[in-house]
Amino acid sequence: MGDPVLKPWSLCEEEMETSAVEPQALPSIELDAEGWGGASLRKWPTIPKISPYWALGGLVASISWCMWGYIRSGRQGLSSGDTMVVFSLLVVSAVVMAISGLMRRVALQRMVEAIRRGLTIDRETGKQVQSSELGVVWRAVEEHSANIQRRLAELADAHGQASLELTLAAAQRRLSSIIFSAMPDPLMVLDSYGQLIQANTAAENVFGFQCEESLRSPIDSIIVHDEMRKLIRQSREAEQRVAERRAEFLVGDKFYGVHVIPLALGVKAAEGASDHGLIVNLRDITREREASRKKSEFVAHVAHELRTPLSSIRAYVEMLVDGEAADEATRREYYDIIQTSAQRLGRLIDNMLNISRIEAGTVRINKEPIAISMVVKEACDVMRPSAEEKKITLTEQLTPVMFRILADRDLLYQAILNLISNAVKYTPEGGEVVVRMSPREEQKTILIEVQDTGVGIPKEDLPRMFQKFFRVEANKNMAKGTGLGLNLVKSIVESVHGGQITLASEIGKGSTFGMIFPLMS
Ligand code: ADP
Repeated sequence: MGDPVLKPWSLCEEEMETSAVEPQALPSIELDAEGWGGASLRKWPTIPKISPYWALGGLVASISWCMWGYIRSGRQGLSSGDTMVVFSLLVVSAVVMAISGLMRRVALQRMVEAIRRGLTIDRETGKQVQSSELGVVWRAVEEHSANIQRRLAELADAHGQASLELTLAAAQRRLSSIIFSAMPDPLMVLDSYGQLIQANTAAENVFGFQCEESLRSPIDSIIVHDEMRKLIRQSREAEQRVAERRAEFLVGDKFYGVHVIPLALGVKAAEGASDHGLIVNLRDITREREASRKKSEFVAHVAHELRTPLSSIRAYVEMLVDGEAADEATRREYYDIIQTSAQRLGRLIDNMLNISRIEAGTVRINKEPIAISMVVKEACDVMRPSAEEKKITLTEQLTPVMFRILADRDLLYQAILNLISNAVKYTPEGGEVVVRMSPREEQKTILIEVQDTGVGIPKEDLPRMFQKFFRVEANKNMAKGTGLGLNLVKSIVESVHGGQITLASEIGKGSTFGMIFPLMS
């Protein structure tokens, strides 16, 4: 190749040690057999090696000649010949010194130029240096440079890795903080001095403080809730392994389950500090408590409702056994009462079972396309005798059989029957009950209304009408009932058939219960 090559120079060995070369800019260069570094370097003449010590030799020789001439003259001084010789030796020494200095500068320049040449040559090929004096030095420089480059690359890698880890850690910290803040349950973290070190938005809202302003403040100065403060104090004073505490408090208008968990620190930081921090976690249990209250209420209701017919059965059976019914008519009367009570018991149990099965999703539902007017007619026919008994006009306005819904026939029948039965029960003699069907083709639904001219329902009771065991106080004497019928109707319409229930009522004027079902297309 036509690239310049370098000639080795022994004179430059010392200078090479002090040459400053940028490590990352050092490529390999190639030397020719003679060691010349290319055409442009050949302008430098080959200079014989002249050591500066030669000048020292000349100096020593001139001093020796001087002393010898002085002795030889019997200490009378130097002869003119000796003076000439000494002078000549000194001149020669000075010349040698000058030449030596010049050569060193030339050598240094050659070396610098050679290195510069090397730096601009063969960057792409990166070939190895041939054996030569410069080659050895060059290889060492190159190795050093490669080492530095490798180290730099490693450092760059490590730096990249560290930056990445730092970014990840920061992202994780941000994420944790977002999750912590977004937790719906109030959370607070306290240090071993009982000072707040972190709290989420839910905790701020419950206890009415600002986390940023309250950081590092004693928890007693942040929370005014006495029971809560006491619980935290107990946890702080206890040893770490027994510091966990649970309690339930009313904070504001909500019930909270409080869980205080010790945060391991290992050692006691100082006097007055405990050996652990605390995590205080609150969980809103208002609904759970309400549900459990309702459950207890339900059980009490059920027990009460069952006890009434049961007591009646027991009492009349005892009277029969004791022979208190003297004549056939009285016995018949007792039998009727026992039968009615047993039927009521059966109804109660059936209704409760149906409701709980629907709520638990264990009821067997057999949905099929049903001409809904047929079921409505069937229920009206069943209720007609009771209506006639009370001189109530029961009329039905049915739709053609083509309107069909996907429904469980038995449950649907049960719901319609309950509504018509209630309408008859709570309508005084001579009243009117209308069962009306109105298809609403735009919405692809059908509305079945049971309208009566009965006693009506007080406005304030309307929202509770579909609750279990709810009975309107004023209507209780009108008919016997369980307070479960409407709840069952709601479950059948909404939970089983995806429909909707409606109610409008006015005291003294009557009520209209409605059921909306999706029509089959
Ligand atoms: P039950 O009729 O067995 O008491 P329901 O759940 O069917 O139980 O009804 C709950 C209460 O709603 C009844 O006790 C009654 O006071 C009131 N109610 C239901 N239907 C009517 C109606 N058509 N008119 C007036 N009050 C009604």
